[in-house]
Amino acid sequence: MLRVSPKHAEFGTVERALKIGDVEILALRDCVLPLRLDFQFPEAHADDFAPFRERYPGMLSEDRWLAPVRAFLIRTPRETVLFDSGLGALGSVASVFNVRGSLPDELRREGSPPEAIETVVLSHLHLDHAGGVMRARGAGAEPTFPRARHLLHPADLELARQWGKQYSETVLEVEARGLLDAAAADGLQLGRALSLLHTPGHTPGSMSVLVLSRGEGALLSADAIPNPMLATEPQWRFGSDSDPAQASATRIALMDRIESEGLVSVPTHMPEPFGGFVRVGGKRYWRGRT
Ligand SMILES: [Zn+2]
Repeated sequence: MLRVSPKHAEFGTVERALKIGDVEILALRDCVLPLRLDFQFPEAHADDFAPFRERYPGMLSEDRWLAPVRAFLIRTPRETVLFDSGLGALGSVASVFNVRGSLPDELRREGSPPEAIETVVLSHLHLDHAGGVMRARGAGAEPTFPRARHLLHPADLELARQWGKQYSETVLEVEARGLLDAAAADGLQLGRALSLLHTPGHTPGSMSVLVLSRGEGALLSADAIPNPMLATEPQWRFGSDSDPAQASATRIALMDRIESEGLVSVPTHMPEPFGGFVRVGGKRYWRGRT
């Protein structure tokens, strides 16, 4: 049986705990990004958003998508894995959004301080997922997770090299200190219950984590399934996707798999951290667990 516990609701921004067999997944809130609708959904018209405003109250303002940014702490009986690092608080990163991430404080509250984390899986190189790997320290910066092996798909490391700038202060800096493992690939097993899936399209190296334990399962898909509107209209072009056609195909394949295998969907920016999909009038809709 799948259980969602509100036991952490009283602590800071820890939203929910989900139990999958022997594995516990904690949703940690890092920040909220007010993203421009016209940038993120460049081909949608203002009228297209109306039904979603009604169905998902609080998700959209007049011209913004208020996107929660989360990271997930996955605890198995043998290992603790952090999925994504939040936005961080480096000047160069925070200045892009004028927002700072609070993930390190949330980890401390949960008894898993950043200094103790041994594995960080980065779903992809975008700053709301990988910006938190370095933190400001005096005049410079130092790794937020100094003992951790950071896993990033090689295709996204390559992209970071091409893009430079902010990434040279985050993932490239972690790499320079010998803490980055870019050999992670599709099917890599992290302990008994966790495996990595290469789910490209949003970026060439986007990765998801599949959790399977005692007949239960969850899929942490990050930005392969970024928003409820793209669950219903998976062909809409999402402005942050590097390869829109591939991103759309990946999105549909993942949602099909979540449905057919009875997995819990664990995306990063949905209104709720855990949920699934329902069919209404021939269309698929995100339904969060509340
Ligand atoms: Zn994102």
